[in-house]
Amino acid sequence: MRWIRTVLVGRRIHAALDDSEAFDLRDKLKALAELQKVDLEIASLRKATEVHPKQLVELEKEQATARAALEAERARLLEIEQQRRGLEQNIADEKDKVRKWESRLTEQRSPREYAALAREIDIAKKTNQTMAEELVALGKTLAAAREALKGKEQEFTSGLNARGGRATQLKDKMKGAEGQVRQLEEKRAKVASHVDKQLLHRYDLVKRKRMPALVSLLAPGTCQGCNMNVPPQLYNTLRSTLGMDICPSCHRLIYAAEALEPHSGSV
Ligand SMILES: [Zn+2]
Repeated sequence: MRWIRTVLVGRRIHAALDDSEAFDLRDKLKALAELQKVDLEIASLRKATEVHPKQLVELEKEQATARAALEAERARLLEIEQQRRGLEQNIADEKDKVRKWESRLTEQRSPREYAALAREIDIAKKTNQTMAEELVALGKTLAAAREALKGKEQEFTSGLNARGGRATQLKDKMKGAEGQVRQLEEKRAKVASHVDKQLLHRYDLVKRKRMPALVSLLAPGTCQGCNMNVPPQLYNTLRSTLGMDICPSCHRLIYAAEALEPHSGSV
């Protein structure tokens, strides 16, 4: 009777030892290696695309900053316009005052009163003159602010278009990657159905902490996951059985390289 002994005892997979069995073990190994290939593809795709959502957030931040700068420019313009209206009002009021006072000049009875009013009129006229000069200066500031706003608006629009284009590209890429991952996950489910259940369970446990979870041993028995050497007896067993075991150092699933790649591993 052909006896096949592949049992998990504690952390070890003990594998035995005739040709048909070795063939069986090798099939299990191949199926698991196939599964890991898909998992690595998924992982590298995720890694390559993980930057996209961050870039999208970055774009949104840039957009908010540009909008805030534009709003600040608009607010500045409004403020200058308000200042100008206020100044125009003051000038008009002051002119009214002067006109009223001038009409009252003739009504003044004493020369002293006349002189006092004439002096007030003089001061008011000078104030008006100063305000008129301020108004001219403010007009220039206003024109410059309008020009600046126009520039900012153009800048904002072109930035908006550029960012919009980049965002669309990113979203397309994200969608594409999602589709690829979905396809790979479907593939994984199919491949996983060919993997021995106990092995799959063990592999998934290791995979959560370490990827790749399945690694080869190269002569003289060096684990390709952690670079430690396994005991020579374990290495020899794996070479003859073409089965799998657990690395005593990193707990990854290990196999002798020649089990999958017939000429590697031997020095
Ligand atoms: Zn190891």
